[in-house]
Amino acid sequence: MFTRFMPAILLALAVPAAFASQPPQMLSESVTRHIRVDARQLALTGIQVIDGSGGPAQTDQTVLIENGRILAVGADGALAIPEGFERLDMDGHTVIPGFVGLHNHLHHPGVPVSHHAAPHLYLAGGVTTLFSAGSAAPLAELNMAGAVSRGLGPGPDMRIAAPYVTGPGGNWVMPRPETPGDARAFVDYWASAGVAGFKLYRHVTPAIAAAVIEHAHTHGLAVTGHLCSLTFQEAAEMGIDRIEHGFLSMSDLVADKARGECPSTLSSLETAEMDGPEIAAIVESLVARDVTLTSTLAIIESHFAHRPQGDPRAIEMLSADARAAYDARQTALRARRDTTRFTPELFNRVLSFERGFVAAGGRLVAGPDNGRHVVPGYGDQRNLELLVEAGFPVAEAVRIMTHNGAVELGLGSDRGLVRAGYRADLVVVAGDLAADPAVIRSTVYVFRDGHGYDPESLADAARGDVGLR
Ligand SMILES: [Zn+2]
Repeated sequence: MFTRFMPAILLALAVPAAFASQPPQMLSESVTRHIRVDARQLALTGIQVIDGSGGPAQTDQTVLIENGRILAVGADGALAIPEGFERLDMDGHTVIPGFVGLHNHLHHPGVPVSHHAAPHLYLAGGVTTLFSAGSAAPLAELNMAGAVSRGLGPGPDMRIAAPYVTGPGGNWVMPRPETPGDARAFVDYWASAGVAGFKLYRHVTPAIAAAVIEHAHTHGLAVTGHLCSLTFQEAAEMGIDRIEHGFLSMSDLVADKARGECPSTLSSLETAEMDGPEIAAIVESLVARDVTLTSTLAIIESHFAHRPQGDPRAIEMLSADARAAYDARQTALRARRDTTRFTPELFNRVLSFERGFVAAGGRLVAGPDNGRHVVPGYGDQRNLELLVEAGFPVAEAVRIMTHNGAVELGLGSDRGLVRAGYRADLVVVAGDLAADPAVIRSTVYVFRDGHGYDPESLADAARGDVGLR
């Protein structure tokens, strides 16, 4: 298993000092079997680049990769290809940075134990870095992330969240610290266990939320929330770093909301004036306090009966149990098509809120929040399509899903751009992504640290395993 890496190791000894501190990782056979391109010096030529900065696509580009880093990017012909570089003619293809997902669970809801399907599928779908945004089995997730980082299995760079924090009336499986002191002890324990952040859940009380936020910050860790008991504005005032899901979890507009309680209905969202002063004030307070919003459009779409209900590639990945649940849900959705409160009008409001947030200067990031038929990786691809449907140009949607995510994780100078010096975490798709976001489904290679993985091979290893008990 080591022979295939011997030449790479020898090359690494000869590279410039800037890269000498990052020797190629020893990858096990369970990783290398999915790698198709592993030249340590590689030139992608004739390719269209959407670089993750939000700037326009550039056609006919050459991207030089050396020892897992991007060495240079420039126009074909103008950028010289150094001696010894392997050339890959990528005419008719587009390259973007690997996705940096901020709401990328490693569990399938209802099945708490993490499974190998998630890291395989995230990588297959183009996700090279993720935050798990709430863990059902945090120790299993920390161990899995550690195994991937040591080259024992394929997957993205996975940053793991602590268990969700909720309060009275919340899910039984989630911790609910009772005093601020308990909350601080909880934060200390999970910070020392190696989590990358915390997630507040719908029923958390204001006192506990404030204690978690304040104490996590003393550890240099961020806090996000799927809110309900707290309004967006209350959480922003407490110093929360990020809010998940956007419009549909906003309780700020509930007229008779009791402080600290999760209201039973959010029907206020159905009538709110999208361009009115109330929503503008909420958005303004988030932007003023530098609160990031995480877009989870793929899972939100799954609530709406009039919307597509799953990509066939995703449905193939479901276990027998998850497939049966999917089929039952489709029957139920069809039956309530005319009576559901999940109307086309409400879906448009969700899209419009995210557009408005970005227009006001807010930082939007994304993640699939997998569940139902929304599976790791393919759910991220669907998010890209939905962000474009929301009105973002393709280059802007790419920025939201790549560089914005990297900045959010404090990695903005290392990844999320197709630019010299950045990590060679790249997604190569067949076709003109700038013209059609659906081209994101035609993934040809996903590079992580300069190794080019075969998405089909990764997906084959996960087929039928999403939601396996
Ligand atoms: Zn979630």
